[in-house]
Amino acid sequence: MNSTSLIKPVLNGVYPVISHGKGVFLYDKDGKDYLDASSGAVTANIGHGVEEINQAMLEQAEKVSFVYRSQFTSDAAEKLADKLALLIKGKLQWSFFVNSGSEATETALKIAIQYWQEKGQPRKNRIISRWMSYHGITLGALSMSGHPLRRERFTSLLESYPSIPAPYCYRCPLQLEPGTCGLACANELEVSILRIGADNIAAFIAEPVIGAAGAAIVPPDGYFQKLKQICEKYDILFIADEVMTGMGRTGKVLASEHWGVEPDIVTLGKGMSGGYSPIAAAIVTEKVLEPIMNGSKSIMGGHTFSANPLSCAVSLAVLDYLDTNDMVEKAEKSGKILGELLSKIGEEFSFIGDVRGKGMLYGIEFVMDKKTKKPFPIQMDVTNKIIKQGMEHGLIVYPAAAGEEGITGAAVIIAPPLTIRPAELIELGHRWRKTLQVFKDTAGL
Ligand code: PLP
Repeated sequence: MNSTSLIKPVLNGVYPVISHGKGVFLYDKDGKDYLDASSGAVTANIGHGVEEINQAMLEQAEKVSFVYRSQFTSDAAEKLADKLALLIKGKLQWSFFVNSGSEATETALKIAIQYWQEKGQPRKNRIISRWMSYHGITLGALSMSGHPLRRERFTSLLESYPSIPAPYCYRCPLQLEPGTCGLACANELEVSILRIGADNIAAFIAEPVIGAAGAAIVPPDGYFQKLKQICEKYDILFIADEVMTGMGRTGKVLASEHWGVEPDIVTLGKGMSGGYSPIAAAIVTEKVLEPIMNGSKSIMGGHTFSANPLSCAVSLAVLDYLDTNDMVEKAEKSGKILGELLSKIGEEFSFIGDVRGKGMLYGIEFVMDKKTKKPFPIQMDVTNKIIKQGMEHGLIVYPAAAGEEGITGAAVIIAPPLTIRPAELIELGHRWRKTLQVFKDTAGL
């Protein structure tokens, strides 16, 4: 250990110290470059060192960096809320700003419960979520997360929210054949609601494309439409957790747009500021806000740093950048090239079982055998070995699933900045191929 900061050592016991970043590259203090093929934790959506963002940060810092949200609002916060409403369109118009994705989902949970209280139905206070999901690390957010590894140490503190299976067609949790299953995993929502009683349920929460818990699991067409219908039938709010997928990552502003489904509450984080400053949001429709405004008049949530002007100005500059450079449309186009490239490389290695994703969010799942889909034993620590090899070859990929027995195979996420250029995509492919080849040789596969 050569450092006193509590950052998990990965590379030979020592974490590289980054000196600066530009575009899709990060550089350590020894001059080594790393192609950021995961945008950090699927966050640096417009890449590193973008001048316009640095400028916006400076300009805001010269005006005011902090005002307390219960005393003031700011130009930056108001403009950001307007910009989000403009980009998202539709009924999601009211933004409540927080500092992290976990706080955003925790806030969404609280808003959903408060909504029903204000409507005189305080018993409607449970949230249904899915196994294979990640909604954050704070206790409310973790309670909703079906992520065994992150839950296991804290289970005694967690609300045991009921969970339904995820649409993980590569290994169907209901052991049905995709295409002929009648979307049985979506129907499970209705089964769950009938068991628990709609009178006890405030909301259902889901990531449109499952990220950290499953590596870019894209649901079949019709899945989200069915879930939304069930929510409406039983008068349950639908929360889309778009912390990872939101603001262009999948080739739409919100990933839920792919299926024409409008949530009652949406959460954003990560790409909302592209990692330039911590900020996240829970955004609600008029329907959700109205009883709260007619009742206690404010949302029971918030943090000291909520809506701080500096982060708001940075996020606004990032959204302006996305907008003026047509990054969402470009993400859709680059995503197709990325998908083809990763699929082609996937065919070259016997231990790549599945390449899946949408837009610029891809997951790669590793198996012992392509035909049987037999996962690697968890003790082989395949995900971490591949990540380590990547780092050694100047490629950053993101751990998505460790390969919990009977739940998932080992998997990583590849999700470069939406700004990645064609030549850099080719370089990403070279470094990925090399990473896999060295992993294969060292593992004796
Ligand atoms: N929700 C989703 C879908 C996420 O992917 C994450 C983080 O990976 C979170 C919530 C939590 O966000 P944060 O790490 O900013 O607290």
